Amino acid sequence: MKNKLVIIVLFLLLIPPFIVSYKFIASKNTAGAPPYAIEDLEPPETDPYAWLRDWKRPDGPPKVGLQVGHWKNSELPEELERLRGNSGSSGGGKAEWEVNLAIAKSTAEILKGKRIIVEVLPATIPPQFWADVFVAIHADGSTDSTKSGFKAANPRRDYTGRAPKLLELIEGEYELSTGFQKDPNVTRNMRGYYAFAWWRYQHAVHPMTASVILETGFLTSSLDRRIIVNRPEISAEGIANGIVRYLESENLLMN
Ligand SMILES: [Zn+2]
Repeated sequence: MKNKLVIIVLFLLLIPPFIVSYKFIASKNTAGAPPYAIEDLEPPETDPYAWLRDWKRPDGPPKVGLQVGHWKNSELPEELERLRGNSGSSGGGKAEWEVNLAIAKSTAEILKGKRIIVEVLPATIPPQFWADVFVAIHADGSTDSTKSGFKAANPRRDYTGRAPKLLELIEGEYELSTGFQKDPNVTRNMRGYYAFAWWRYQHAVHPMTASVILETGFLTSSLDRRIIVNRPEISAEGIANGIVRYLESENLLMN
C-alpha cells in the first residue's frame, strides 16, 4: 500500500516537467506568421507622426504647386462639400477665381522657364499632394473699398520647418514687385486653410510640403485691381521671385 502511494506521488511529480518540455518542443517546431519570440513583441508606436522623421524628398527637379483659389469649386469632393458654394470675392467685373487663375498661369510660365516642374491646381488638391513649394493664390474682398494690400500666411501646423522661410521670401518679393502694403490682418481661416489640413482631409498637401496662402490684394480696391486684374504678370513676378529664392536657398535650384 505504501509502495503504491510512493509510485503515484513520483509519477505526479514527473508529469509537469514532461508537459513543459513537450510544449517547448512543440513551440520550436511551429511554423507561421505570429511572433513566437519575446523580442518580436515591440510596444506600439506612441507618436502617430513618427514616420515624418524618416521622410526623404523624392529625387528629381524642384516641384511647385500653385493653387487657384475657388477654381472649379463645384467639383470639390464630398469631404469638402461645405466649400462648394464658397466662390470668394469679386470686383472689376471679375470673379475671384479668374483673377487667381491669370496670376497662377503667369507665375507658372516664369517658373517653367527655370526648369521647375509646376502644377496649376484647382480648388481640389490631389490626395496628399507633395511639392517642394505649395502656394494657394487668392484675392481679398471687403465692403470697405479703401481697404487694400496683400497678406500671406503659413499653415497653423508646419512639419517641414521651412514654411516660415518661404513665407518671408514670398512676402518680401511680392511687396517689392507690386509696391503693395502688407496687411497685418492674417485671419484664422488663412492659417487653418483646408488644403493645409492633411490630418483631416485626403485632398490636402502632404505634410512635408512647404506651404503658403497668399491674398494677392483686394478685388474691391480700384488701386489693387490696377495690378491684380490689369497687370497679373506683376503679381506673378513677385510670387515667382519668392519661390525661386526659396528653392535656391534649399539648393534645389542652381542660380
Ligand atoms: Zn479666396
